[in-house]
Amino acid sequence: MRGKILKGIAGFYYIETSDEKIYECKAKGIFRKDNIKPLVGDDAIIDIIDEEKRLGNITEILPRKSGLLRPPVANVDQAVILFAIVKPNPSFNLLDRFLIMMRGQNLPVIICFNKQDIATKEEQEELTKAYENCGYKVLFISVKEEKGLGELKELLRGKTTALAGPSGVGKSSLLNKLVPDADMQTGELRKKIERGKNTTRHSELFYVKELSDGDNFNTFVIDTPGFTSLEMRDVTKDNLMEYYPEFEEYEPSCRFGGCSHIAEPDCSVKKAVEEGKISKVRYDNYKVLYDELKNARPIYNKKTKR
Ligand code: GDP
Ligand code: ZN
Repeated sequence: MRGKILKGIAGFYYIETSDEKIYECKAKGIFRKDNIKPLVGDDAIIDIIDEEKRLGNITEILPRKSGLLRPPVANVDQAVILFAIVKPNPSFNLLDRFLIMMRGQNLPVIICFNKQDIATKEEQEELTKAYENCGYKVLFISVKEEKGLGELKELLRGKTTALAGPSGVGKSSLLNKLVPDADMQTGELRKKIERGKNTTRHSELFYVKELSDGDNFNTFVIDTPGFTSLEMRDVTKDNLMEYYPEFEEYEPSCRFGGCSHIAEPDCSVKKAVEEGKISKVRYDNYKVLYDELKNARPIYNKKTKR
């Protein structure tokens, strides 16, 4: 049987097959044979041990289309980052960190702002200006009033999408709209997962039947928690600018080669910010992250030398 890993907890993997049955599986053979750790999102072949109790063994992990190291999930096509326009106001620092992390992994990102129903037009325009101009797809939705959900759904169709966002922005509400039977799917899982195991830190994959056109079994959303502790691996103060693609066209006209666009005179990037060609929100964030990366970074380097 072929299936998809929904969740992995303490050596157990919960695998859904295309007929929507969920099996609890172990993966001992896989570790020994291929030295591979199964991830949420993996396509797997399982041996069914007990059909009634829905128990199985993973015998093979199918080749990954893409690996996503952080968060540890596999076969992800894109990420949707969800923020609220207001209540809570978006943390641009967190948003840029997320964008940097995903860019580092070559994963397309759709930026989705919720709670359109309680935001002003000006607030939306500012966000559009900041993020559409640097090449991201920006979407405004209201889960509450069911606005913009159709467009979002079309972007998800046939793909596996990692859904991330800080708490309070409406992620659970959105998930419930996208996967109306999420509670049921989760309930199925919960029944199988031993009580007392901490499951909230783990990513969880949901099958979006509505967008899979019947028997295709090809649309999934992964709820990815742990959003607040984003590490920016491989990012240094010197290559940070590479994660701000909107700087690129101005950089050649900076007076100094290798200009960091922070304190140098005749900096074309700074000039473009002053002229409103580059978003001030983004530039200010760049400066904040630059400073963070410049100073001691015990948060990022756990093994800091003394
Ligand atoms: P999560 O913490 O991201 O999972 O957020 P929840 O789904 O629990 O929602 C947080 C709060 O925002 C709840 O009180 C929701 O009712 C509210 N909320 C969610 N979506 C919307 C929306 O589109 N508009 C408004 N005004 N409130 C919303
Ligand atoms: Zn410069």
